[in-house]
Amino acid sequence: MLPEDKIKIGISACLLGEKVRYDGKHSLDHYLKYTLGRYIQWIPVCPEVECGLPVPREPMHLIGSPENPRLITKYTGVDYTDLMNRWIKKKLRELQKEGLCGFVFKSRSPSSGLMKVKIKEPDGRVRMGRGLFARAFVERFPELPVEDDQRLQNPDLRKNFFLRVYVYKRWKELIKRNNKKTALVKFHERHKLILMAHSLQRLREMETLLSSTDLSHKKLINKYFLLLMETLKLRSTMKKNYAVLQHILRHLRQALSIDETDELRESFEDYKRGRVPLIVPVTLINHYARKYNISYIEDQYYLRAFPENFTLD
Ligand code: SF4
Repeated sequence: MLPEDKIKIGISACLLGEKVRYDGKHSLDHYLKYTLGRYIQWIPVCPEVECGLPVPREPMHLIGSPENPRLITKYTGVDYTDLMNRWIKKKLRELQKEGLCGFVFKSRSPSSGLMKVKIKEPDGRVRMGRGLFARAFVERFPELPVEDDQRLQNPDLRKNFFLRVYVYKRWKELIKRNNKKTALVKFHERHKLILMAHSLQRLREMETLLSSTDLSHKKLINKYFLLLMETLKLRSTMKKNYAVLQHILRHLRQALSIDETDELRESFEDYKRGRVPLIVPVTLINHYARKYNISYIEDQYYLRAFPENFTLD
């Protein structure tokens, strides 16, 4: 893959092996750096070092209300909140121009942690929240796909994150190239089965939205985009995917021979019973959609959500 074809995703720098942690070590994630690095241009960010703190340094924690905690060193009580917030403001402006399609945060860090970061309240209670940078990032780019390294260990969450990343990328390209309604409808058509695999109800809502005539084009685009990204966050289950496979079969049946239909049905049942992964029926569908030139199915991103050889296993 050419460097310019790689997708740009921000990442906590220590996950790429940079020795920027408070103890002078790194938190290298081999899979992210080396396996996915073939497809992704990682943009490393270390809030603590980039705001001017040294390596090694005293570890820090968050103290105060979960809505507005302070970033304080653990043993000497130095408050770095203002220094960090000044840097965050500047950094978010820079990142805006990077054209990121997602961000992977280091879990549990008081600066970079995306969720379940411990925050000590003045009365001694411990609540959970976000690190200062992660929190500001999510507020500034609410629709951008984000995850943390720990959650990405889960295959379903990993697939969901990268699915959102690639849909987000295609959306941004669409808006840049041609944001006319016909292009939007075409985009929707090609993502229909992916959306169905997340929520049939949301898919219907999106179709109602697209057929409405009382919204300005700008409002329609904004509403559609919000619904799109929210829908993709919903879990795609075996039951939902099985329903999608049945939907596909209804479109292919006319063209297939009896033996081919039986073969497809068998692979669907094997998937339903957990004997084979989803890729097995999807590969067969791809084959038959191409063989019989069923363009509605052939064009679906459901059949090829990621670039060729992009491996999430
Ligand atoms: S967790 Fe964030 S702040 Fe801490 S070392 Fe990694 S990138 Fe830097």
